[in-house]
Amino acid sequence: MNLNSHVPRWHELQSAARAARENAWAPYSHYQVGAAVLTSDGRIVVGCNVENASYGLTICAERVAVAAAVAQGCSGFAAICISLTGIPVPCGACRQFLIEFNKGMLILLDDVNRAHDTPPELVSLDELLPRAFRLL
Ligand code: ZN
Repeated sequence: MNLNSHVPRWHELQSAARAARENAWAPYSHYQVGAAVLTSDGRIVVGCNVENASYGLTICAERVAVAAAVAQGCSGFAAICISLTGIPVPCGACRQFLIEFNKGMLILLDDVNRAHDTPPELVSLDELLPRAFRLL
């Protein structure tokens, strides 16, 4: 898939996700993650990981971004950029959470160790979670 043709606003998403990452609440792991979701109506909504002393209550950046967008009245999502250090892939819980809204959602995988404006890797959510659980 070609990033520029599929997600022409990828620079904005990358910048927003990287900026949100700076707000991560990660006092335990020190592993900061930022996410920026592009809604179907063109909004960009961000999230960051929010850890908790109980660990189990920790929320990933991707779910924070989508939940914030839903709270703003959005339910259609075209793409999400995930920015972190290392190998930026969403966890299994986030894959299931995201596929609720769009199985073909485009995922931009942004390693912040790479220079800003380095194109993120582009994958489709259904590539990352084939045969997802569905009630419908
Ligand atoms: Zn996750």
